[in-house]
Formats: sequence, structure tokens, C-alpha cells
Amino acid sequence: MNEYDSDRMAKLLEKTYGLKLVETPEEASVLILNTCSVREKAQEKVFGELGRWKEWKDAAPDRLVAVGGCVASQEGETIRKRAKIVDVIFGPQTLHRLPAMMEQALKERAEYDEQREVHKRVRRKAVIDISFPEIEKFDNLPAPESNGVSAFVSVMEGCSKYCTFCVVPYTRGEEFSRPFADCMAEIEALAAQGVREVNLLGQNVNAYQGVMPDGEIADLAVLIHAVAAVEGIDRIRFTTSHPMEMTQSLIDCYAEVPELVSHLHLPIQSGSDRILALMKRNHMAIEYKAIIRKIRKIRPELSLSGDFIIGFPGETCDDFKETLALVEELKYDRSFSFIYSQRPGTPAASLPDDVDLDKKKRRLNALQALLNDQTQAISDAMIGSTQRILVERLSRQNFNEMAGRTENNRVVNFDGSPDLIGQFVDVEITGAGVNSLKGILVATPEADRFKQRQYYAL
Ligand code: SAM
Repeated sequence: MNEYDSDRMAKLLEKTYGLKLVETPEEASVLILNTCSVREKAQEKVFGELGRWKEWKDAAPDRLVAVGGCVASQEGETIRKRAKIVDVIFGPQTLHRLPAMMEQALKERAEYDEQREVHKRVRRKAVIDISFPEIEKFDNLPAPESNGVSAFVSVMEGCSKYCTFCVVPYTRGEEFSRPFADCMAEIEALAAQGVREVNLLGQNVNAYQGVMPDGEIADLAVLIHAVAAVEGIDRIRFTTSHPMEMTQSLIDCYAEVPELVSHLHLPIQSGSDRILALMKRNHMAIEYKAIIRKIRKIRPELSLSGDFIIGFPGETCDDFKETLALVEELKYDRSFSFIYSQRPGTPAASLPDDVDLDKKKRRLNALQALLNDQTQAISDAMIGSTQRILVERLSRQNFNEMAGRTENNRVVNFDGSPDLIGQFVDVEITGAGVNSLKGILVATPEADRFKQRQYYAL
């Protein structure tokens, strides 16, 4: 979501002020830090980075520094207190106001310089707007432009689940869905620019409830069906989901919508019912397993990924073993696992953070070793299979090769020509590294269909 937001900021500043992205800070006149506060480590990095920018700012005082995202939303004024170089502080829901805020900051700086000549002790404040004006943001951002064959589309934001560990409802606000027609217009525009794959985004994307032009509400299943009908869009992903929002109609999409990939990112956080209750996830492990079983009945090849939190307050060795057992049973393919991080203002912050740090680290290592083994086993098992991949770009390792992604989101490098970019091709997998697969092109069904059409036209 932050990547998507950063992209929209860059486009917005290009449209309003003609600002262009540059390669190094030295070439820049504005630096923007788009932040995440989901864990303390990410938050602390913000202040480390701002400290490094001081020299850059001091070198030319007319340079601007802006801080956006969830740390900005959470800390507001405190950011300026800790980092005097910051001129603008905006939240995830006010990024569309960034050009006006930058202009205001420049104006205030000019006024400040004048006042300082008279009165030395005058203080300059940052321009701050971290409010939650919801839909206004989407209405005020420039139309999306594709950067390639695959695009993110933000369809909802925020979270109303209030898991006890999580800061998101307080920094991004409650769940808010974009109207159905707005999402569809964005996707149709992307398809017209050659996008073949969309990744529907939201903190709880499967809680999507978009108002339709007739006043009815579309859920994520309705949206997925509509997206699948858009000419040119042949692959649909959605991320990230909450288990409590995996409705039957969404599960049915795996049977009804071939464009929907056989991949699901469904965080569970812990395999222990006791910990799930303390986290206020509102479901038990068995219910989560039932969802996966239902989808695997429809798509036995489903590749599953998840998020796990290690060392939540009160997590015992037995609780952790239940997490390992769940992972053993369900077989995950690439996942995210984190040591619990106490977040200010969340209900869990009042619980004693009582699991010893060494224990947390040992548990995290054990879980990650298991998850990595499972991921590698899946990659190894793909060797010899034929995979349909969407060709995205030249390979980063060897410019004579092309790179594309499988349904389970693995990069495959293979010998091929750049004409294939934007096409679905079939590749036989010949090798599996840690980060990517190697393959041989075996069929180009779309290019063949195109040639056939030309032949009939003749
Ligand atoms: N829809 C997701 C869900 O079902 O929870 C929420 C995604 S959340 C923004 C991203 C991930 O960050 C969570 O799934 C969780 O594993 C991790 N996370 C959130 N708060 C955390 C905390 N306080 N400590 C450690 N990890 C945390």
C-alpha cells in the first residue's frame, strides 16, 4: 500500500509542479519519506533516516523535507520536535493535499525569514495535516498510469478490526471502501494502457463494501467478477485479507473466476486459540483451517502465504508449538513473520511484554526455518512443470533473458524476446534458486492466436 501511495505522490507532484523523480538526494530539491508504523523498528528507521538528511538540508536551505504515512499520522507534531529539518507532515489520507502543503511551507519559510531579520527568536513550525478525509483523497489524485503489465489498485483502506496488537485503525482510520464505479474506471483505464494483471489492495481488502451506482453494495466477490470481465485483464490478485472476511461468495470465486490466481495471502498470526483470543482475531485456528480446506478443494494447487507474530504477550512454548503445528499442516509458500512489537495506544500495549527477547528470537528462527523449507520445497516441486507466466520485463541478472511471474508469484527467467512483454506464455521450469526460477519457453499461446487472427484476416 505504501508503494502504491508513493507512486501516486510522485505522479501528483509531477502533474502539479512538474517535479520529476531523481536518482540521488543530491539532485533533489524535495525529499519525501513515506513511513510505516506497524512495528517499532520501522518507526525508528524514520528518525535515523531524517538524521542522515540533515546535512543534505543544511547544504541548501531552500530544500524541502516532507514526512508522510502512518508514522506521520501517529506522531504528528512530535516528528518536527525530533527532526527540525521537517517542513511538511501529512498522513496516508491527506497525501493529495501535499502540493498545497508544500506551497504553504515555502510561503511560511519566506515569512519566517523576513520576521527573523527583525526578531531573532521567532520559531518556524511544520505544516501539518494528518486528518482522515477518506474518499476525498482518491477524488483528488491524478488518473493512474501503468508502469508495466501489472498494477496495484487500492480499493479500500483502513481497518475496523481492532486486533489488540495493531496500530493500523488508529493511523489509517476505519475501513473505508472506494465506490465500485471508481475502482472499475481505474482498472479499465489501466487495461487500456496494456495492464494484464491487477492486484486489488486494502488493509483488509476482503472487507470491501463499495457502493454501486444503483445504491447496492458490492463486496469483493462482486468486484472480482466485474474485474475479470474487463477486456485485457487476465490475472487478478488481492491482498491483504482477514480470515473473518473470507465469505462463501469470495471462496466461490476460486471456482467461478479463472482469472483469480491460485494464491492467497491470509494472515493468521498464531496457531494457538488462546493467543488468537488475546489478539482479538475473533476466530479459532480450526476456522482458519476450514477456509483453506474449502479453497484447496476447489484449487488443490492453492499456494498459501500468511503473516505470523512471535512472542505476543503471554505466548508460551506450547502456544508457539501450536503455530509450528499449523504451519506443518497447512504448508505455506512464502510468508511474513515478525517478533511482536508493542505499539503505543493499542490494547495489547497495556499487557506485560513478558516473553524473553532471546526466546522470541529462537522461536522466530525456528518458524522462519520451517517456512523457508516449505517455500524451497514448493519451488523444487515446480521443476519439470509447465507454468503460465505473465512476461513483465528484461531479466535483472541477464539482459538476454526475460522475466515474468507465475501464479504463485515467483519470478521466472527464461530465454525469450522483449516482444513477449505483456503476454502470457508457458514456460517449463528447469531450476529453482532461492529468489527466482529458471525456465525454457515452451508455448506462446497469445502470440500464436494473434498470428492466426492475422492469417484469417488475410
Ligand atoms: N489484514 C491483515 C490481518 O489479517 O491482520 C492485516 C495486515 S497488517 C497491516 C500487516 C501485518 O503486520 C500483520 O498481519 C501482522 O502480522 C504484522 N503486525 C501488525 N502489528 C504488529 C505488531 N504490533 N507487532 C508485530 N507485527 C505486527
